[in-house]
Amino acid sequence: MNESATIVANHWDSSSSPCECCGQYSQQIWGDLSLGDTRLAAYFVHWTEGRPDHLPNLDLIIGPWGNANDSANRILVTLLFKPSANGGSFMVTDASSRAGLYGDLFGRAMLRAEVVGTPLASEVFALVDALWLTEPRIAEVKVLNRIS
Ligand SMILES: [Zn+2]
Repeated sequence: MNESATIVANHWDSSSSPCECCGQYSQQIWGDLSLGDTRLAAYFVHWTEGRPDHLPNLDLIIGPWGNANDSANRILVTLLFKPSANGGSFMVTDASSRAGLYGDLFGRAMLRAEVVGTPLASEVFALVDALWLTEPRIAEVKVLNRIS
């Protein structure tokens, strides 16, 4: 199998802080999703330990990387992960609610209706699949499925 044909998550960094509402630790990880040498997206995953009811956020900034003015051509797509005993599910949400977190890294925050049912949706879910399979710390998010 050609290794470069598989999208792979490259972990960059992580942070944690107590959740303001419950004091449990909220975790954040971020990195990029790349196909061979081509970066397709940056990912940011945020969840709270022991709290499947704090639906984890999965934010993707999708588009070209490498030139200074590429950010205007990138889009922000946001999803919520709903943990459950059968493995959980993703819901695309309006990215406007998360846009303030990412400054000028992207040009446009996508509404749910601009993603669901469009060709972009299959691209998004290919990225999500790759993240779920190749980012080791997603195992900590999957723990929420068992306690939901
Ligand atoms: Zn909390």
